[in-house]
Amino acid sequence: MSEFDWESILPATPLGEIEKDIQTLRQGFRSGKTLDLNFRLDQIRKLFYALYDNVDAIKEAIHKDLGRPVFETELCEISFQWGEFNNVVSNLKKWAADETVKGTTIQYTLTRPKIRKRPLGTVLIISPWNYPFVLTISPLLAALAAGNTVALKFSEMCPHTSLLLGKLCTEALDKEIFKAFQGGVPVVSEILKYKFDKIMYTGNHRVGKIILDAANKYLTPVILELGGKSPVFVTKNCQNVSLAAKRALWGKLVNAGQTCVAPDYIIVEPEVEQEFIKACQYWVEKFYRGGVDSDHKDFTHIATPGHWRRLTSMLAQTEGNIITGGNSDEKSRFLAPTVVAKVPDGDSLMNDEIFGPILPILTARSVDEGIRYVHENHDTPLAMYVFTDNASEGEYIQSQINSGGLIFNDSLVHVGCVQAPFGGVGQSGYGSYHGEDSFLAFSHRQTFMKQPHFIERPMAIRYAPYTSRKQKA
Ligand code: NAD
Repeated sequence: MSEFDWESILPATPLGEIEKDIQTLRQGFRSGKTLDLNFRLDQIRKLFYALYDNVDAIKEAIHKDLGRPVFETELCEISFQWGEFNNVVSNLKKWAADETVKGTTIQYTLTRPKIRKRPLGTVLIISPWNYPFVLTISPLLAALAAGNTVALKFSEMCPHTSLLLGKLCTEALDKEIFKAFQGGVPVVSEILKYKFDKIMYTGNHRVGKIILDAANKYLTPVILELGGKSPVFVTKNCQNVSLAAKRALWGKLVNAGQTCVAPDYIIVEPEVEQEFIKACQYWVEKFYRGGVDSDHKDFTHIATPGHWRRLTSMLAQTEGNIITGGNSDEKSRFLAPTVVAKVPDGDSLMNDEIFGPILPILTARSVDEGIRYVHENHDTPLAMYVFTDNASEGEYIQSQINSGGLIFNDSLVHVGCVQAPFGGVGQSGYGSYHGEDSFLAFSHRQTFMKQPHFIERPMAIRYAPYTSRKQKA
């Protein structure tokens, strides 16, 4: 049993059952039932009602696992997910319809090329613990909508939520199209021995590489939703520095910073540095009415003892100035919202993704110096946030740094736009999902066309012998 005792809550799937379960999913796919769009929609509706009818229990389970305020769960997970169900149900038939290929050259006029969106087969989804509802159900919905059968490995780090969601999904869905797998590394390792038609993994880089190695054996395509250090620029052209601090802090402190797209660190220009620091102190005070301790109802706790130790040790080693927060409690895995100013290059807070409620502020002499820092240290972040009121400066920063997503003058909210693709680039992962991109992520776009018999004469030129007459034609 690990130090984090999830196994007493969440029984692991017996290793001996895994092969049989995956075979069942393969048979389910071969049966052809998922090709029928009405079958898919029926399954999706059953899944929706199973979750909708149990939403209070889901919120409660997340609260038990993460100590997260229920309101935050409603805001960041539940409402988003209902929006996605609605989007899929309203659009599935349109997305799945054959597409006519337009603008072809004359020789394809009669063959009428089209694109069919075919399911891939049996896919594997491995989900994380930090947003255990949305980061599990959203990929599942995508894979089902595209007509696949699905093996879903829930995260052991949020045992109450994984137990409940595994049960609800299993009860709602056809036994041949969905299987829930629970457990830790031995279970994932066993599952990865088998062939899948696609794997989607959400989590950290280290495990991402393990998934890629396993996928390599069968040349399985992979979607990697990873993390990284997402920068925030606050430039001297930002007119409302207080609002910038308020919005960046909100993105940092939701779920105690355990958000893949959380602002990881601030790059501020000297002209607005002091104002930004003061505004951070003001807003932390204001959000939590005078201070946060481990009993505060509006602040999430750190998910595991290991993550808590990692964060507090990073903080103990920083050479920056802690301007607010810093207090912690090991027993309840609490770490207060903490802002650290004057953080030097190479500081303990600047090596890896923080994934906790610590916000380092780096002062850069210019926007270009900030851009250079990102290029040299944490290139291709999952998200970037730019607070400026100078449109051409914003355009310039956007042109210089490639990030998974970008928001001007806010943080986080791009994730909630269910119609737009979400995903990383370079080090922050590849493949995107949400909306139609979710459907396409789990589909194969098959080109097909039909050659009429009657055009054989004009096509005679292509057959050997390649006579000189043909070559001159
Ligand atoms: P995690 O450790 O819970 O890993 C996720 C899954 O990987 C779990 O199901 C777990 O059982 C499995 N796993 C863990 N170790 C394994 C191993 N050695 N072999 C095989 N499987 C293993 O997730 P985490 O790393 O704590 O999650 C946090 C990271 O995920 C952060 O870097 C964050 O930025 C990133 N993240 C990214 C997104 C995104 O959408 N891009 C979303 C959430 C989290």
